[in-house]
Amino acid sequence: MKDFIKSLKTPIAIVGMGKSGEAAKRLLISSGVAASSIKCFDGKLATADYNDPNKLMSEAQPKTLVVSPGVPLASQWIQDAQKSGVKITSEISLSCSILTSEKLMGVTGSVGKSTTVSLLQAGLESFSKTGFVGGNLGTPFAEYAADIVEGKRKPADWVVLELSSYQLENCEGLELEYSAITFLTSNHLERYDNLQHYYDTKWKILDLTKHAMLLNNEGGDLVEYAQGKGHSQQVKVISKKDTQLRSLQLDKALLIGQHNQDNLALAATLALEAGWPESSIEAMKNFKGLAHRLENMGTTKGIRFINDSKATAMDSVLIASTAAHDTLVPGGKLFLLLGGRDKNLPWEQLKPLEGFTDIEFVFFGECREIAQRKSTLPGESFAKLDEALSYSFENAKSADTVLLSPGGTSLDEFKSFEDRGNFFKKKVELFAECQD
Ligand code: ADP
Repeated sequence: MKDFIKSLKTPIAIVGMGKSGEAAKRLLISSGVAASSIKCFDGKLATADYNDPNKLMSEAQPKTLVVSPGVPLASQWIQDAQKSGVKITSEISLSCSILTSEKLMGVTGSVGKSTTVSLLQAGLESFSKTGFVGGNLGTPFAEYAADIVEGKRKPADWVVLELSSYQLENCEGLELEYSAITFLTSNHLERYDNLQHYYDTKWKILDLTKHAMLLNNEGGDLVEYAQGKGHSQQVKVISKKDTQLRSLQLDKALLIGQHNQDNLALAATLALEAGWPESSIEAMKNFKGLAHRLENMGTTKGIRFINDSKATAMDSVLIASTAAHDTLVPGGKLFLLLGGRDKNLPWEQLKPLEGFTDIEFVFFGECREIAQRKSTLPGESFAKLDEALSYSFENAKSADTVLLSPGGTSLDEFKSFEDRGNFFKKKVELFAECQD
């Protein structure tokens, strides 16, 4: 792949000017491609050179298309371009072409990617000064590559990439030492003819992997799908119950929820396979979770606070409340804050929670009445989140947990779920400072 960028015929069109498209442009320019030979296409962005693919192809006549993951490769005009000899490539392939000594790890899956990659990031940061973590989550890979080309950073010892199925469709030159698939379930069927095609695309990660590819034993359709693929020595199914993992005491991790134990088991095994120091696994155990997603804010005055402000679907509320309930200290009680703005949510799905006598429901916000009526759950009700939090803080005792997993959106009181989560955090800080 050396000199890959130099070998590309110009003009080059970048198709899709999101974060990764912009990063690809920067990498091309820093690798010596003249800015005038790069044309930017985006179906929606008015600032792009072209919004209409027919115009792009007839006027700019690009010889190379760098297609962003957001644009389907199956689009007729891209297929036609390819047939007429236009080279199709991607931000990932451009980035891979400048690598030297880096070792790569890739994670894909229908859910659990960001959490697993963030765990790996926590592990990597504990021992590496040069490591890079990005891809589909966070910083695009081409930003790393452009930094290297521009001499702004040293090559990483390890590069950990979150890879979407779209990225796996177009990633010539990508070579991974280790990889993992977190979960397979029906998703993105708008871009695939059927489920098999979607799963097959995820499975492509095996062809890119030199050593082991790890699968989560609890990964939805994953294990059954893998069995249909036949035996491969490279493929290892990982369970949080494996004896090898038990000695690592992953159950002592801050991240809560059985599904996160699965993600942690996968990340820890990747670290072991890759020869990362054991301290990296300790760092993973101390990872609190992505902000506002079942984020364990720790214990203040004996009370545990969990921020799951992002939860705006009943599934998420059920996952969060079960995870928090399962990890209650014996004798402890769970204060579950529910509310916000309704979007015709099926609140009745929360009815089964009524069976737990150690959960106290606290309703708040614009949808508090509808949420309570549909769910038929008992509990106090407040117009504002602030009042609901004050009530919970006053009534919670040592060993209790206060969980904000609201179900409703934040827009009745806040700009975003981040805003709402930060409000909760601030209130916990004030609570920590005040003397009883
Ligand atoms: P992604 O980056 O793949 O979208 P995330 O790690 O952000 O996934 O997780 C999104 C949601 O998926 C979580 O809030 C949780 O509800 C669910 N989830 C995460 N990991 C798993 C898992 N291993 N098994 C089942 N559900 C999971």
